[in-house]
Amino acid sequence: MPGVNLHREIEGRDVLVCRKCGSEFPEGRATRDGWYYQCPEDGCDSQGLGEGLRRINRRRERSS
Ligand SMILES: [Zn+2]
Repeated sequence: MPGVNLHREIEGRDVLVCRKCGSEFPEGRATRDGWYYQCPEDGCDSQGLGEGLRRINRRRERSS
C-alpha cells in the first residue's frame, strides 16, 4: 500500500535519542502506533516520548 508507506516516511522523519542508553534512532523505530514510544535497543526499557526518549529535529531538505 503506497499510502501507508508514505505515511510512515513522514512519521519517521524525526530522530529520537534515548536518555538511558544514548542510542539514536528514527522515530518510526520507536513506535508502532504513534502513541506509545519505547527504545528499540535490546535490553533497554527506556520509554515515553519526552521522558525516556528525547526528540531531535533533524529535518532534511528534499533535493528532488
Ligand atoms: Zn535506550
